[in-house]
Amino acid sequence: MGKGIDEWIDLDKRHFIHPTSSLKQQQTEGAAHIFTKGKDIYLYDINGKKFIDAMSSLWNVNIGHGREELAKAAFEQMSKLAFSSCFSTFSNEPAIELAEKLASITQGDLNAVFFTSGGSEANDTAYKLVRHYWILKGEKARKKIISRTKSYHGVALGATSATGLKPFRDFTNSLAPDFCYTDHLSAKSLRDVIEKEGPETVAAFIAEPVQGAGGVHIASPNYFAEVRKICDEYRILFIADEVITGFGRTGTYFGMEHYGIVPDIVCFAKGVTSGYAQLGGVILSKSLHEQLIELSTDTLFHGYTYSGHPAACAVALKNIEIIERENLIDNAEKMGKELLKGLKQLELTRGIVGATRSLGLMGAIEFVKHKESNEQFEKPIAPLIVKEALAKGLICRAVVFDSQDTIVLAPPLTINENEIEKIIEII
Ligand code: PLP
Repeated sequence: MGKGIDEWIDLDKRHFIHPTSSLKQQQTEGAAHIFTKGKDIYLYDINGKKFIDAMSSLWNVNIGHGREELAKAAFEQMSKLAFSSCFSTFSNEPAIELAEKLASITQGDLNAVFFTSGGSEANDTAYKLVRHYWILKGEKARKKIISRTKSYHGVALGATSATGLKPFRDFTNSLAPDFCYTDHLSAKSLRDVIEKEGPETVAAFIAEPVQGAGGVHIASPNYFAEVRKICDEYRILFIADEVITGFGRTGTYFGMEHYGIVPDIVCFAKGVTSGYAQLGGVILSKSLHEQLIELSTDTLFHGYTYSGHPAACAVALKNIEIIERENLIDNAEKMGKELLKGLKQLELTRGIVGATRSLGLMGAIEFVKHKESNEQFEKPIAPLIVKEALAKGLICRAVVFDSQDTIVLAPPLTINENEIEKIIEII
């Protein structure tokens, strides 16, 4: 006999600490939904209830749920070689093939890949590599990393320190040193921060092309070109955190393509495997990679056990093959327009919908008490709307950081017009 639902909930409460969760809520309410199955844009819980996964779970299940091809790719690779080390001079075929593929799909001279197990590790890797680079260049003072307000870069110590959302930083009382912040929308503010900190102390600037967890904030069309120019002027490395925006999410392969700029380093994770395996990494420009090779005198003392995990890399290769074969980036662009239409319709017809915005399949709806005055509710209503939506079979997410009252959406790239309509109808 299998376990009953009450038993699952009881065991969950006693033994499973949920990530990014309220520990009290887990104890009082129990696990709201224990998911047992996924197919296309839908998730099914233990009671058989069906949900539209309008967040692609954590902005990552780009090709949708239930793809047997990926299970097969993992099975085949695991049956042949589940794991072997990539430290030192060891390597494996899927990791080499994936690195080459990533070099071929990223912009400009982005060319060489360091693999991690996820986005937080990718961010910490980027910060350590840029600092290492400046040590090798003889400019040891360059160690500060400038990130943006409302940014989210993950929960490793460096990634948390770079994150511009205060609750994540306040969670622990000792962060990594040498991180500072600039306003998320103003290029001039970046220049001011560099000048204030001292340009000779700044190693790198990091930004998400579209800020995700912070509430889907989209930069103005020339923001990143200006930022790139400022970074070049002060010889500061530009890191794009494409953990959410990579692999088609915004209707282009990578988010920075919208802005026509090429970063020195790209952080990726999530959509590289659509969540079917744990994988992330950083991609360095050819010039940066070549300088590191030329200047290095010792071992690169940075590497995760799972850097270049063969099964994860095999899953990523199959995932990318599906994204290309099914033209999912084009679909994200087309369906992104439908999503925007739906959001604008809500903005026009609903008194409590203030601003809405989206790029590709990343969207946000801001709630206000009175549209005319832009006055907010005393208490954010986004969490209530998310709860109601869930009851009606729709998974979306509330963002209430920094006095926001917003819900965000990021459905799988496979979504069609009717499904977008359904999401808007439920909201
Ligand atoms: N960077 C960005 C932009 C993210 O959105 C996230 C996760 O949401 C991360 C980094 C951290 O990735 P992970 O949760 O895989 O460590």
